Amino acid sequence: MVAKYVYDFTEGNRNLKDLLGGKGANLAEMTNLGLPVPPGFTITSDACRHYLAEGVVPDGLEQEVAEHLDALESQMGRTLGQADDPLLVSVRSGAKFSMPGMMETVLNIGLNDESVHGLAKQAGGNDRFAWDSYRRLIQMFGKTVLGIDGDRFEEALEALKDRRQDTDLDANELQQLVETFKGIVREETGKDFPADPREQMRLAVMAVFDSWNAPRAILYRRQERIPADLGTAVNIVAMVFGNVGNDSGTGVAFTRDPGTGRQGLYGDYLQNAQGEDVVAGIRNTIPLEELERIDKHSYDELLTIMETLENHYKDLCDIEFTIERGKLWMLQTRVGKRTAAAAFCIATQLVDQGLITLDEAVTRVTGDQLAQLMFPRFDAAAEKKKIAKGMNASPGAAVGKAVFSSARAVELAERGEDVILVRRETNPDDLAGMIAARGILTSRGGKTSHAAVVARGMGKTCVCGAEELEVSTAERTFTAPGGVVVSEGDVISIDGTSGQVFLGEVPVVDSAVVEYFEGAAPDDDLVRAVDRIMRHADAARRLGVRANADTPDDAARARRFGAQGIGLCRTEHMFLGERRQLVEDLVLATDDAERQAALDALEPLQKADFTQIFEAMGGDPVTIRLIDPPLHEFLPDIVELSVKAATEEATEKDRKLLSAVKRLHEQNPMLGLRGVRLGLVIPGLFAMQVRAIAQAAKEVPGATPEIMIPLVAAVQELEAVRDEAAGILAEAGVEALIGTMIEVPRAALTAGQIAEAAEFFSFGTNDLTQMAWGFSRDDVEASFFSNYLDLGIFGVSPFESLDREGVGRLIEIAVREGRAARPGLHLGICGEHGGDPDSVHFCHEVGLDYVSCSPFRIPVARLEAGRAALAETDSDTR
Ligand code: ADP
Ligand code: MG
Ligand code: MG
Repeated sequence: MVAKYVYDFTEGNRNLKDLLGGKGANLAEMTNLGLPVPPGFTITSDACRHYLAEGVVPDGLEQEVAEHLDALESQMGRTLGQADDPLLVSVRSGAKFSMPGMMETVLNIGLNDESVHGLAKQAGGNDRFAWDSYRRLIQMFGKTVLGIDGDRFEEALEALKDRRQDTDLDANELQQLVETFKGIVREETGKDFPADPREQMRLAVMAVFDSWNAPRAILYRRQERIPADLGTAVNIVAMVFGNVGNDSGTGVAFTRDPGTGRQGLYGDYLQNAQGEDVVAGIRNTIPLEELERIDKHSYDELLTIMETLENHYKDLCDIEFTIERGKLWMLQTRVGKRTAAAAFCIATQLVDQGLITLDEAVTRVTGDQLAQLMFPRFDAAAEKKKIAKGMNASPGAAVGKAVFSSARAVELAERGEDVILVRRETNPDDLAGMIAARGILTSRGGKTSHAAVVARGMGKTCVCGAEELEVSTAERTFTAPGGVVVSEGDVISIDGTSGQVFLGEVPVVDSAVVEYFEGAAPDDDLVRAVDRIMRHADAARRLGVRANADTPDDAARARRFGAQGIGLCRTEHMFLGERRQLVEDLVLATDDAERQAALDALEPLQKADFTQIFEAMGGDPVTIRLIDPPLHEFLPDIVELSVKAATEEATEKDRKLLSAVKRLHEQNPMLGLRGVRLGLVIPGLFAMQVRAIAQAAKEVPGATPEIMIPLVAAVQELEAVRDEAAGILAEAGVEALIGTMIEVPRAALTAGQIAEAAEFFSFGTNDLTQMAWGFSRDDVEASFFSNYLDLGIFGVSPFESLDREGVGRLIEIAVREGRAARPGLHLGICGEHGGDPDSVHFCHEVGLDYVSCSPFRIPVARLEAGRAALAETDSDTR
């Protein structure tokens, strides 16, 4: 069979996103629902992948495109660019995942010096409209296909407009502008603007393919974790025109408020305009409600269609539409991006409407969204100086220095400063700055503007359309009412939940969702939605969730947040502060008696620490890891010591410490004398800790300690310390599981042997990742990880999200062989990955008993564990 690279809209459907991209799949879906979609066809992303890999389009593609174009022409009764009655098309990018404005689209393909007259005739002698369309073609084509700096065209347009609106330009002026634009093309490329319609189309298709690898598309994909090798589909769509006059226009809409989830119409409309004008903020849009007054018939039809779409997709949809002389056309739909708050509210609303089940509702929200709802908000009680109000485009509380360009935002952020990117409006070239900034503030554009859409997608705080502000990029200032001038570097605070802008730094407090997790009763729609979804996720999940907590405060918070125990209680902090003294004594001890004296002094202190943690956990298991880091971490800094030892005041102890520090120095401390090795080399150290645990457990009724030995690589290591620990526990009459971390690759590979001596495993995935890759985490992240991300060696740092192929395989082996040796072996994970959504899904799939993560990530882990149990991650919901 010959490969098929082109699908008519009547052939596709919404499930073919991999092949047709989101836009193409949904245009097909709408076509087949009988909605008014202009006819067209889609070139698959397979074709794009072939082109990107081989540098040429696949064999047969041109022929297939030609056949589909012929069919489109006969359906429309006119040919592409036909001089007296032209068919025009748009050539539109559209990948599997929406990448707002990141790739290219060219409208009005098929116009040239002849067909422009034919187009005017088609529109009843409307010359103005025809020339406006022609100048748009040259402008878009010049920028995206020919690679000419868009400012050249913008400047020519601005000069001609001379402060008027684009709609004030008459046919003659637009014709003159076309000549100017053609001149720019000639000047910049040395060639004439291509007049042949089929050549225009062919070049535009290539440009769309190429736009997959434009720098901003690459950056966006990395930010959103979209795979780099998907490629984009290309849609060829018969043009309909919103720029024919005031009975025409174009708009974007959401079926519910994407900011809050509130039900009801939501959108922007612009009369006498073409597509991209709305999002680009060329003129001020009007709220969609006003369309009812302008064109009641189209308005009613639009409402009906929106309802059809919601019921069909069973979710919030966003749409792009155009009205051509009173006739409504649908140009795009998709399940729309929304804020985290809206995601929770909409999911539960849809349950109440009977459109989805509660199971589905849980899969419609993500742990990342929940994490966003736990970000702090501005303190309502704090004194603040409000200087403006815009639209609450993407929620959150952001504080930072005002900056006026993307480059400056990146520069300051790299120095560790918090910045707010302030622009009149943003465009796709601002992406790097938007990523670098804490928040985004614009003076133009609505909730469907570029800034708003992109910020919501990234979960970044955004206030847009704060029209009272005069932004001057050149002077790097903005002026607020009352003559307040904010210059680059001045601190401002923006509230994306209310749309308010404040001068200076406003203090923040816990979010309502955090208060709820802390125990407050749900008292608003959002918190009620979160409560409902969390309860259902908890009921559904198979994974337990524990906390990494070292102090009684952390333990107590973790428990309030739903932790079912502590999966990792580190003991090293118990050797810090004033107790360093005792560690120094331990290191300097020259005989058994001195060493034991130091340990005896530490024991009651440790015991008190454990008592408090057991009390805070009220009988839930507490996995205590015996001391892990190399001892020299507790000793004074070598440089300070050297200086001090050379002075008059230096004591005998200082000199001894210095020589101890020198003796203990290691080239690779992470691979040195630490973990179980310490326990084996320093007699009595682990025994002291185990005794302290046993004594504390005896004091707190119901305490359930588990003793965890770090850095084991061979069963013999574990056996030696296990026997000693078991003896101490038996003597004290305390029961506790004794297990090990699996964090050295050798331990994973010999898990069958290790399980003979271990009652549980806990995967220490930070060290396991570090050792599996041979990466020193503290060094590599800053030094070359960005190169690795650029090179596509991994799409996300393996320290952030568990590397399933490598580290995951080690875990799988250990799970399988460990359980084979000891059925019922208890298994958990306690690295950072325990709170990472993708990694939680992995832990579910591989059959662990629990994940353990930092207290603030516990709700995220609970939700993701529920989602993992209810459905495999639906990667299309991002
Ligand atoms: P993006 O992915 O950036 O949204 P689109 O391909 O959706 O780019 O094109 C942007 C806008 O151009 C659309 O929202 C629509 O208004 C307009 N447009 C695209 N194709 C057509 C068409 N065939 N007729 C009229 N307008 C179109
Ligand atoms: Mg679009
Ligand atoms: Mg470790």
